[in-house]
Amino acid sequence: MRVPCPHCGERDVAEFRYGGDASKMRPTHDTGDLKQWHDYKFVFDNPKGPHLEYWQHVYGCRQWFKLNRNTATNEIIGGEK
Ligand SMILES: [Zn+2]
Repeated sequence: MRVPCPHCGERDVAEFRYGGDASKMRPTHDTGDLKQWHDYKFVFDNPKGPHLEYWQHVYGCRQWFKLNRNTATNEIIGGEK
């Protein structure tokens, strides 16, 4: 699979690290609701199809970015910084 880094261009997937679901909203630090934090950290969907994800170019520029990837076909639909 080839991953398009927004800073370096297209590279092999071995240079990258998956960073999780980018569509989830992180709770604010001042929230005392532990259920919100639990759900954010440990409850995941397992979507089949387009999915917004965090990726890091570990063996390149080390920048984090969002990637819209089809989880069924690994097709890269789009990305953003
Ligand atoms: Zn890069």
